[in-house]
Amino acid sequence: MGTSHTHDDHPRHVVRDYAKSPMNIYWEMTQACALACRHCRAAAVATPHPMELTFEESVAWLRQIPGFGEPLPQLILTGGDPLARADLYELITEARRLNIAVSITPAATPALTHEVMARLKQHGVDGLGLSLDGSTAHRHDSIRGVPGTFDRTLQAMGWAQELVMPVQVNTLVAAETADDMAAIYELLKPFGIARWSLFFLIAVGRGKVLQPLSPADAEKLMNWIHETSRGASFILATTEAPSFRRVALERMREAGMTGEQIRLSGATRSHGIRDGHGVMFISNTGEICPAGFLPLAAGNVRNSDIVSVYREAPLFRQLHDPTQFEDRCGVCDYRTLCGGSRARAFAASGNPLASDPLCDYEPPSK
Ligand code: SF4
Repeated sequence: MGTSHTHDDHPRHVVRDYAKSPMNIYWEMTQACALACRHCRAAAVATPHPMELTFEESVAWLRQIPGFGEPLPQLILTGGDPLARADLYELITEARRLNIAVSITPAATPALTHEVMARLKQHGVDGLGLSLDGSTAHRHDSIRGVPGTFDRTLQAMGWAQELVMPVQVNTLVAAETADDMAAIYELLKPFGIARWSLFFLIAVGRGKVLQPLSPADAEKLMNWIHETSRGASFILATTEAPSFRRVALERMREAGMTGEQIRLSGATRSHGIRDGHGVMFISNTGEICPAGFLPLAAGNVRNSDIVSVYREAPLFRQLHDPTQFEDRCGVCDYRTLCGGSRARAFAASGNPLASDPLCDYEPPSK
């Protein structure tokens, strides 16, 4: 399913030093997935990778997570389709035994049943991520590649409501889908979801067949997200679009809000989180990357310690330090708060420290 595992933000606001400890660890448990989403990062296929982490290897790296210390990062199980792993429940049990909070982003296939969702809940999974990329079956299914996924997604949202499982809905934003956001928002209203995250396309994997928004259209949409969030019954957030924080802060300052009022509004909860800083990603073969959309491996869980890699590997050290960013992001007055999508910088230029081309903010010259 590919896109549901990203985050710019997290409901639990805990103070932590993101240079020492991530808030979210995304684990691509498998590349196996029955869907064929047009924008999939993972280029998911029907079968697991021959070098996929075994059960023992998986348990071994999960046991490294407590090395980050309290507050422990949250684990987000993703793929591919995590439901395709036969040892899924044993691995969830192990993570919960280690006191790690677990969320999951299953693909909307016939394998996602009410019984499966109830079982996930029983095993201590406390969050479900679902992808909804269109307000109609036609729009959604044409992105997801398999007819019927729209209906299954809505059905799963209904079951989650019954089971009282918090849901994050993830929606792809591309030039082809941006005009549908208002309709998707209306569709989501009755489902009692916890948050809606708009994932701004990064053209990798199958994503290359869709077009990203222009910076001007992205800015317009971010303003809409900010406006809409003020009256919404769920949190609106962005994924791989941290410049939304700049847009929201600019609008709040223009509205005359003080720093304290802005802080109390909760709008600053995700500040500073970006690929490799507050976020890390473990691939299905154990590679330790800054994010799912930033496929640069700084080590492998088979032979590296995830805590040392996150804190010490040159790549992660650079991503922790916005003064190392280049071009506009490097001199931007919002670089600590935002810092740009390092994944999009990499996808566009091959340099994870370059500017995020989605944002055309011109920092004031010093
Ligand atoms: S220039 Fe870079 S750091 Fe500044 S707001 Fe835009 S994306 Fe963020």
